[in-house]
Amino acid sequence: MDDCLFCKIVAGEIDSDLIYEDEQVIAFKDIKPQAPTHILIVPRKHISTLLDLEEEDNQLVGHIYQVAKELAKREGIAEDGFRVVSNCNEAGGQSVYHIHYHLLGGRDLQWPPG
Ligand code: AMP
Ligand code: ZN
Repeated sequence: MDDCLFCKIVAGEIDSDLIYEDEQVIAFKDIKPQAPTHILIVPRKHISTLLDLEEEDNQLVGHIYQVAKELAKREGIAEDGFRVVSNCNEAGGQSVYHIHYHLLGGRDLQWPPG
């Protein structure tokens, strides 16, 4: 996708604070952190929203949660607790239309979210 911010980060055309990458995903620090740990886990494949996920993406979504788990442990937030969240469309708070999973932790997170 030519005009997609996260595709450009995946391609290395825009810098990010990269903390993990493999053949399916990259993870980097959110530019506007909402918690002491705020990492975005982003598939290399462009998928605009959660509504665009196909059956063939099931393994990818499972892999994203495995990466989230490992990064939570690596960041030292696993035991205290953390949140993995993905926003969909406008009312859901999505601002970048390339799916991504926020890994948040390092403070007491409120529920319900705003
Ligand atoms: P969402 O609003 O759920 O679509 O999440 C998009 C996230 O991307 C927001 O938390 C932004 O702060 C973050 N973001 C936007 N641009 C960048 C960037 N260049 N590098 C890192 N994070 C970004
Ligand atoms: Zn994209």
